[in-house]
Amino acid sequence: MPTLNDIRSTFLGYFDRNDHRVVESSPLVPRNDPTLMFTNSGMVQFKNLFTGVEKRDYVRATSSQKCVRAGGKHNDLDNVGYTARHHTFFEMMGNFSFGDYFKDEAIHFAWELLTRDFGLDKSKLLVTVYHTDDEAANIWKKVAGLPDDRIIRIATDDNFWSMGATGPCGPCSEIFYDHGPEIWGGPPGSAEEDGDRFIEIWNLVFMQNERFEDGTQRDLDMQSIDTGMGLERIGALLQGKHDNYDTDVMRALIEASAHATNTDADGPGNVHHRVIADHLRSTSFLMADGVMPSNEGRGYVLRRIMRRAMRHAHLLGAKDPVMYRLVPSLVAQMGQAFPELGRAQGMIEESLRLEETRFKQTLDRGLGLLDEALQGLDADADLPGETAFKLYDTFGFPLDLTQDALREKGRGVDTAGFDAAMAEQKAKARAAWSGSGEAADADIWYDIAEASGVTDFLGYDTETAEAQI
Ligand code: ATP
Ligand code: MG
Ligand code: MG
Ligand code: MG
Repeated sequence: MPTLNDIRSTFLGYFDRNDHRVVESSPLVPRNDPTLMFTNSGMVQFKNLFTGVEKRDYVRATSSQKCVRAGGKHNDLDNVGYTARHHTFFEMMGNFSFGDYFKDEAIHFAWELLTRDFGLDKSKLLVTVYHTDDEAANIWKKVAGLPDDRIIRIATDDNFWSMGATGPCGPCSEIFYDHGPEIWGGPPGSAEEDGDRFIEIWNLVFMQNERFEDGTQRDLDMQSIDTGMGLERIGALLQGKHDNYDTDVMRALIEASAHATNTDADGPGNVHHRVIADHLRSTSFLMADGVMPSNEGRGYVLRRIMRRAMRHAHLLGAKDPVMYRLVPSLVAQMGQAFPELGRAQGMIEESLRLEETRFKQTLDRGLGLLDEALQGLDADADLPGETAFKLYDTFGFPLDLTQDALREKGRGVDTAGFDAAMAEQKAKARAAWSGSGEAADADIWYDIAEASGVTDFLGYDTETAEAQI
C-alpha cells in the first residue's frame, strides 16, 4: 500500500518525467501578497508567472504545496471533524504551464496519471466542465472515452476560476471519484453534492481570459494551466479508504492522540481525535513558517485553531497539556518531506505547551459557565450574545470555539447579540479614553481592530484578563 510520501513522489516524478521543474512548496505565509492570510493553493507562489510580470528559466512546474484554509474566502475550519475530505492543513499537488501546454495536454496528463500510474478504476471517475466549455468536454470524450452523462456541465463559479476581481481567469474542469451508493451524497451539480459520496479529487484550471475593472473580458495571449489535487484525498483512494482521516499519516496522528489521552481511537471520542490530528498539523506547520500565537491577524487565527484543539482534548478528559506531546509523531510522519518541521520542533513543542498550560484554567471555568448558561435555556434556544461575549472577553474563548461547542448540541449563538455586546464594550472604552490626550492613538488602535473584523479580533487584552483570573 503506498504511503502519502510514496504518492507525493509518484506525482512529482510523473511530471518531472514530462519536463516539469520540481519546485519546493513555498511557505504558508505568502511572500508578496498582503491580501492573502495563508497560502491556500498551489498557484500562489506562481502568480507573477501567470500574469507575465515575471519570467523564469522554466515554463512547466510541479509542486506539492502546503496549504491552510482556516479563514478568508476558503475556510474549512468548520468542516473538520464532520466531513471525510476537509482539513485545515493539507497538501495540494499540482502541475503548471506558463504559456506552454494547454487543455489537451493537461487533460491527457491527469487522465494518464490517475488511470495508468495510480491505477484508478475508470468506471468510478466522472468530470465536470464549465457549461460553455465544449472544447474541454470534447477532449474528455477523446482522451478518456467518458460517456456524456459522466461529463457534467456546471454553470456556477465552481467551474469558473479567477485570480481576483481583475486579472487572469478561465473555466475549470474537476475530476470526481464515486465512492458508491453506501455513502450519502449526489453528483456535482445535484442537490446532494455536499455529501461525501462523490469526492472531488482534482481541479484543472484553464487560464484563457483576462478580466478588467469594467467587467469585460478578453482572450489572453498567453494561455496557462494551473491544477490542484489534494494529496490526502488521492491518498485515501489509493489506500482503499473513503475517509482522508484513514490515510497513514492522519491515522498515525489519531493514534498518537488516543495514546496521549488514554482513550480509544475509534470510540465515541473519534471526532475529537480527528480535530486534534488536523489542528496539530495546521498549528505546527504555521509555527514552522514563523507564525506565532497572538491577538491579531495571522497569529490570532493560529491561536483560535490551537484553542479549538485544546477544547477537544479537554472533552477527551485530558487533565494535562496534550498537543505538544503529539509533535514527535508529526515530525516522524512528515519531517522528511518538510525539514522545516524538524528544525522548529523544539520551538513548536514549547509554544504549544505554554499555550495549553495558560488556556487550561480559563478553559475549564469557561466551559463551566457555558454549561450553566445552557441549563437555564430552552432546549433549542441560541446562546445569548452577551454570554458568548463574556466567554470571549473574560475567558479567551474565540467565538468560533463557542460555536463549535454548541454545534455538537445542535445549537447556535446569537451572533448579532455578540456583535452588539462587542460594540458596546468598545464604545465604553472609547469614552474612557477621550480627554486623556491619547485620542489619536486610540483611533489607530480601533482602526486595526476594525480592519481585522470584530469576530476575528480578540479586542481587549486577554493576556491581562487571564492573568487576573
Ligand atoms: P471542496 O469542494 O471539496 O471543498 P474545493 O473545490 O474547495 O474542494 P479547490 O479549491 O478546487 O477545492 O482545490 C483543489 C483541490 O484541493 C481539491 O480538488 C481537493 O482535492 C483539494 N482540497 C481542497 N480543499 C481541501 C481541504 N480543505 N482539505 C483537503 N483537500 C482539499
Ligand atoms: Mg472547498
Ligand atoms: Mg469544490
Ligand atoms: Mg474545486
